Amino acid sequence: MSHSEQLRQYRIRQQQQIQQHQIQREPLLPDNNLNEPLLGGGQGRYYSDFRNQQAQSDNQQTKRDIYTDLMFNVLAMMLIINFGADSHCGISIFMWCLVYFCILSTRSLTNLFKLKLQENQFRYYNTFTIASFIVIDGLLLSWLIYGNILFYSSKNDCNQMEGSRVLYNLMFVLLLVGYFQMLVYALLIFCLPCLIVILRHQERQRAGIVPSSAIPSIIQSLTRLKFDNQQFKSEDQCSICWIEFKSDDEITPLSCDPKHYFHTKCIEDWIRTGKNTCPLCRQPIREL
Ligand SMILES: [Zn+2]
Ligand SMILES: [Zn+2]
Repeated sequence: MSHSEQLRQYRIRQQQQIQQHQIQREPLLPDNNLNEPLLGGGQGRYYSDFRNQQAQSDNQQTKRDIYTDLMFNVLAMMLIINFGADSHCGISIFMWCLVYFCILSTRSLTNLFKLKLQENQFRYYNTFTIASFIVIDGLLLSWLIYGNILFYSSKNDCNQMEGSRVLYNLMFVLLLVGYFQMLVYALLIFCLPCLIVILRHQERQRAGIVPSSAIPSIIQSLTRLKFDNQQFKSEDQCSICWIEFKSDDEITPLSCDPKHYFHTKCIEDWIRTGKNTCPLCRQPIREL
């Protein structure tokens, strides 16, 4: 049987399996089982199975990547011990290189642990991620800075010593890579506050909450009138405080609807809580 024929048959079998799968799921559809919600129990379950499978295979891939990373770091540590244990020069280059890969291995182990936490849907997963990032990557960064101080000090004569030349070259490459890492951290640190501000701003906008600097101008733009029961007939009480309007009360009609008017004091208090929307119909009081 040719290869393309095998492939064709394999595809047909796969198609049949998918169809069988769908037939088995059919009783869950709302026509046959009215108590099952469409997305929760019927097709939804099929898709969520599919999503779970995909997430699992993603996890497997990440796990493989972490193991490769870890093996590489352990190998690097073994090579350093093999080649540089008896290196004697002006700076403690052997110790620096060894600790550098120790920190990288710790990071890989933490990533593995994080994956476990994610699988178990640990509640404080995000907190743990941020905390481990600050501790381990902060340590790595400090170690790189310390490495630069050592490497460019006048005591560094390791490239002249036969036994430590390999480590000297290795440290040089690691520090070069380190500059790139420092750049990434610097960008992260600069961008993080901006990102948080943008996200918070978007969240507030979605919730209809305006920045406190805009509140005085919204209050100033309000129309202020004396209540007159001939002019304002549709409502005889303020929908914010539920107190009846008396003649000579100062009231504010909003532009959204002629029936939407309130005590000026009440709508001012409402705006001071950061809201720029009519309490009744949620339309903006003033376009910003
Ligand atoms: Zn009122
Ligand atoms: Zn309104």
